[in-house]
Amino acid sequence: PGQKQTHGFQAEVKQLLNLMIHSLYSNKEIFLRELVSNASDAADKLRFLALSDSSLYGNDGELRVRISLDEANRTLTVSDNGIGMTEEEVISHLGTIAKSGTKEFFSQLSGDQTKDSKLIGQFGVGFYSAFIVADKVTVRTRKAGAAQAVEWESAGEGEYTLAPVTKEGRGTDIILHLREGEDEFLSRWKVESIITKYSDHISIPVEMWQEGSPEREEDGETIAAIAGNWHAVNKATALWTRDKSELTEAEYQEFYKHISHDWSEPLSWSHNKVEGSSNYTSLLYVPKKAPFDMWNREAKHGLKLYVQRVFIMDDAEQFMPSYLRFIKGVLDSSDLPLNVSREILQDTKVTQSLRKGCTSRTLKMLEKLAKDPEQYQLFWDEFGQVLKEGPAEDMVNKEQIAGLLRFASTHNDDASQNVALADYIGRMKEGQDDIYYVVADSYQAAKHSPHLEVFRKKGIEVLLLSDRIDEWLIQHLPEFDGKKLRSVAKGGLDLSNLDDEETKKAQQETAEAFASVLTRFKTALGDEVKDVKVSHRLTDSPACIVTDEHDMSTQMLKLMESVGQ
Ligand code: ADP
Ligand code: MG
Repeated sequence: PGQKQTHGFQAEVKQLLNLMIHSLYSNKEIFLRELVSNASDAADKLRFLALSDSSLYGNDGELRVRISLDEANRTLTVSDNGIGMTEEEVISHLGTIAKSGTKEFFSQLSGDQTKDSKLIGQFGVGFYSAFIVADKVTVRTRKAGAAQAVEWESAGEGEYTLAPVTKEGRGTDIILHLREGEDEFLSRWKVESIITKYSDHISIPVEMWQEGSPEREEDGETIAAIAGNWHAVNKATALWTRDKSELTEAEYQEFYKHISHDWSEPLSWSHNKVEGSSNYTSLLYVPKKAPFDMWNREAKHGLKLYVQRVFIMDDAEQFMPSYLRFIKGVLDSSDLPLNVSREILQDTKVTQSLRKGCTSRTLKMLEKLAKDPEQYQLFWDEFGQVLKEGPAEDMVNKEQIAGLLRFASTHNDDASQNVALADYIGRMKEGQDDIYYVVADSYQAAKHSPHLEVFRKKGIEVLLLSDRIDEWLIQHLPEFDGKKLRSVAKGGLDLSNLDDEETKKAQQETAEAFASVLTRFKTALGDEVKDVKVSHRLTDSPACIVTDEHDMSTQMLKLMESVGQ
């Protein structure tokens, strides 16, 4: 002990640092938002642990963040009296990237700076953003309840050092040694304005030192001396507890960035206070971009849970069904006990009712978003695949979810999924009772399916389904708005309602004329097929294979075969 040791960063950290310094330079002031956000998280974590061990507060129970500027040494310091870190935690949090899927993320980077800088937004910047403005960062931290503190120091170039130090109170000081030319961050005015802009919503005070003034005489009057003091620059009230009417768009957006660790603005949000048999506040956001690890099974998701404004846990996944796992937000309940654990959450009545409430709020928010087709398309293109899991997972809200789905269809000439079932119904032909769809391996295959010929001829729209999940979706969506969804590839398809008498007669005659040919086909094919019929569905192709109404579709058969069934 007492020795300074040198450690190397994980390879991905080096890549991240490099990329960040170059791509975020034009928006460098966000480093302060990231550091204040971490300080606030650290306060939340301490408050949570102190619920069961109040001695952790020691004699310092007022949680806050302090920012100090030192012009002579050219440093900016962010100090908190939150949870702090042990040496092991410093090594794992400030020397590696713990997120699942990190390797995959970095393997996607192309080396093209403009492209990569968009990706970095999805990844989240965090602590390492300090190096955008600092050429050396010193972190001194002491874990709550521990005696020993540790000092981490790095120039952001591949390695860092660790050394034991003495530090008076618990918590973390982050000292940025500003790069040449970054003197604006030594200006109190500048720093205050950044805090107001990005960190106003932080629920603990973000303080700066206010110089005092000595006793003085003015116009013959004595003005008393004012002592120097720390004073809060932000509002320091939990944002979701404030009234909707007093909150600005910018405040909602900044709060989103804080809780989601996302870099882009959210697409939409919904803020609700519920009082009565249930008492809670929810603030739910739809992100603009899917996180890089949305399809990673282990990826964390869920809401930030508070009980009576006390932070309880991140990523509480119990309050959202899986098909809405992309939603970010805060849930503050007054009905759950403060000592609630993940296990307890699993099966309480309160959880169920909160989940119901949050689900319904989210679906309403999406319906509202759908009123603006352009905005909704942004949402659909990012998260539509996830929402398609909905009808299978959530029986109760099936119809509402179905209303939010979008498909490609023969009505458009491109692959974009922008047709709602309600649009389709609005365009149905006279005499048409059902919604028709075709499922294929790709949009092109669906579009050129021979099954579509008769529909084209009759001018009937068909939904073109080609996503992996579509077969699964459609199995759980037998109807919408009282109309059956029917595959064009299944037998028993009766379009005769849409034909006139003359056509029907002509079809009858054709069938009779081909009777002997059919017998020959049947003999030749034997057990390979169930039946051979004359079809009026085809216009250009000579023949096609159909499945029986109640049989598995060919797509489903392929799927089953591929998993060895
Ligand atoms: P994120 O906040 O998204 O987890 P960061 O890069 O901002 O990522 O921070 C990495 C981790 O370092 C945090 O999750 C936290 O465990 C730790 N950390 C950072 N700053 C502090 C702090 N001020 N106090 C305690 N822990 C911190
Ligand atoms: Mg952070």
